[in-house]
Amino acid sequence: MTTGSDALFARARAVTPGGVNSPVRAFNAVGGTPRFIASAQGPWLTDVDGNTYVDLICSWGPMLLGHAHPAVVAAVNEAVARGTSYGTPTENEVALVEAIVARTPVEQLRLVSSGTEATMSAIRLARGFTGRDVVVKFAGCYHGHVDSLLASAGSGLTTFSLPGTPGVPASSTELTLVLPYNDPDAVRAAFAEHGDRIACLITEAAPGNMGVVPPAQVDGRSFNAFLAETCRAHGALFVSDEVMTGFRVSASGQWGTDGAHEGWVPDLVTFGKVMGGGFPAAAFGGRADVMAHLAPEGPVYQAGTLSGNPVATAAGLATLTAATDEVYARLDVVADALRAGAAEAFTAAGVPHVIQSTGSMFSVFLTEDPVHDFAGAQRTDTAAYGAFFHAMLDAGVHLPPSAFEAWFVSASHDDRAVEQVLDALPAAARAAARAATGSTTRKAGA
Ligand SMILES: *Cc1c(COP(=O)(O)O)cnc(C)c1O
Repeated sequence: MTTGSDALFARARAVTPGGVNSPVRAFNAVGGTPRFIASAQGPWLTDVDGNTYVDLICSWGPMLLGHAHPAVVAAVNEAVARGTSYGTPTENEVALVEAIVARTPVEQLRLVSSGTEATMSAIRLARGFTGRDVVVKFAGCYHGHVDSLLASAGSGLTTFSLPGTPGVPASSTELTLVLPYNDPDAVRAAFAEHGDRIACLITEAAPGNMGVVPPAQVDGRSFNAFLAETCRAHGALFVSDEVMTGFRVSASGQWGTDGAHEGWVPDLVTFGKVMGGGFPAAAFGGRADVMAHLAPEGPVYQAGTLSGNPVATAAGLATLTAATDEVYARLDVVADALRAGAAEAFTAAGVPHVIQSTGSMFSVFLTEDPVHDFAGAQRTDTAAYGAFFHAMLDAGVHLPPSAFEAWFVSASHDDRAVEQVLDALPAAARAAARAATGSTTRKAGA
């Protein structure tokens, strides 16, 4: 049977590599044809063939309020009618940055257009501020497709890294150290050996790009607190990547669940996804004395034609304004219901599983043991996930088409949407059981 999605995918593949504009959309990790979506409303996606799905991707994070939220649509329509880009400063840019500063530990912020741009710029600024070149990151953490961050671990823990993809020269990653996540000894060893050369350590505030792997406790404090301390002791900057977690895990992000109580602040933070309300808007910011090194105030160059775009800032501001305590409470209710339903279904079907969360962001690892790092995440059963994914899709639930992604909910997920997911889970878990291999398979790329 050929569907509208099949026909569009064929057209797309003729003119676009893999038929998609971001790899994970292609369904390579689960097989089959991606659904071409024609419209979306609240928690529902409608594809070009008229099928509807409960959306558990939420644009990979941004759609905190659900699709076509009335306040966001109104703000966008109003902004569009006033012109779409001026290349001059605007009031909404100030208002959006003020809203972010009010909710997070950053003192100053620069707007950009993508999370990739935010992390790339934060690293340039960290290097410019410290006068050092080495960057530390963790295996399994994704920070966008920045050359120096597309690195895979070298042969030893404190050796420099290899490019993670063709097209990145060795010279771009030879100043990047890749360490295992949640491993304080590896961090101590890297700083002991290279501390005076390290410009910054960048980490996902709570990793979500290898599935959700919450920061562990280190001697009675969070892994993030330990990282912040270690960086400070060595004169390096601590860069917390909240592109995925910001304004989702809590009103501020992951920091609202650890740093706010523990009393530490990152030197630099990156944001994206939710803060754009579905438009390309992202940001990096932090300590005012560090941000003062950015052009035009300081010597570190960074710029963008569409940075702070008036339509994107209107959507972002409307989204943050509407993201009230009630919204976060609803996200928690929805996530709790789905986690409980998934656990029950997998248990009943005899499928080994671990559900890990930070706030309402969670993922289901089809594996025996809790996942602390990338090596653990890679033990998830991808064949079982593929079968599970397709059974859910057939029952009208659109999960992320990869076993290594978080499930994203929105405040618009009402009881009907939640019920549809809960109803689909038992048969899909049985499909996973039939396909289970227990094999160890690598992530197919984000
Ligand atoms: C999505 C993501 C990015 C990259 O953002 P883009 O807007 O896709 O460039 C960076 N860091 C994290 C943690 C992300 O989840």
